[in-house]
Amino acid sequence: MHLTVLGCYAATPRTLTNPTSQVLEINNHVILIDCGEGTQVELRRHKIKFSRINHIFISHLHGDHFFGLPGFISTMRLLGRDKELYVYGPKGIKEAITLLLKLGDSWTNYPLLFHELTSKETELIFEDDKISVSTIPLDHRVYTNGYLFKEKLGKRKLNVAAVEKYGIDKAYYNNIKNGRDITLDNGSIVPNKELTYDPPKPKSYAFCSDTIYDESLVDKVKEVDVLYHESTFLDSEAHLAAKTKHATAKQAAQVAKDANVKTLVLGHYSTRYKSIELFKEEASTVFPNVLLADDGKTFDF
Ligand SMILES: [Zn+2]
Repeated sequence: MHLTVLGCYAATPRTLTNPTSQVLEINNHVILIDCGEGTQVELRRHKIKFSRINHIFISHLHGDHFFGLPGFISTMRLLGRDKELYVYGPKGIKEAITLLLKLGDSWTNYPLLFHELTSKETELIFEDDKISVSTIPLDHRVYTNGYLFKEKLGKRKLNVAAVEKYGIDKAYYNNIKNGRDITLDNGSIVPNKELTYDPPKPKSYAFCSDTIYDESLVDKVKEVDVLYHESTFLDSEAHLAAKTKHATAKQAAQVAKDANVKTLVLGHYSTRYKSIELFKEEASTVFPNVLLADDGKTFDF
């Protein structure tokens, strides 16, 4: 999995900080998660081809998470896109976008397909042979979902030395990768384990922004490889976090610890603080493996 953080600060775009947007490359999918202002510029800066993005997941309809979307959709038209673009987000997103397209008489010449969400329960919203995507209902001031992206278990890896040793014809390789045993000409059976290696363990990424500290989140992100959890505030402003339905770095770390995740990535920082290192310091008192998202930063997991 490869994560590019295009923006990870709360509220308004500023000279050096962008609102939320990130690109997750997972099992050959290139996924855009949230689309704050500045997303297009950052995509270009990182040389991520717009045309590779087919699925966009929007957490909620606060401007700092989706005001870049109309522009992105409209640029796709100018770039001559013809394949489908799928947009997942809260009910109302279709109306908001289509009104803008209608007023500007700028309908897309490619299929723009909305999948609007209303459920407060976790639901599977996308699945193919490579990945699955489920919602993570969050508790924020408006209807909000995080998203859980999971790789599917790949085929077994061929042990080339072993298949050559037994003189097995290439025509059987696909069956072997699918887990089948092989019967040799002399009638003896070679178990699949001898001919293959285990596929890599599927990875998972949970995106959780924006949300109040919520213990019920723990079960939903249990043992994921990477948890991105918002930390708008530090503990000294816990009262503000509660009031605005955001979380602190310490609370994000508590969720990571209780869910036994491998890595916690913090983001959605309020710009009131002098340094984002303070978020890491605070979270590290509760959970050891903390990384800081920052605009332009990339991660390989
Ligand atoms: Zn919000």
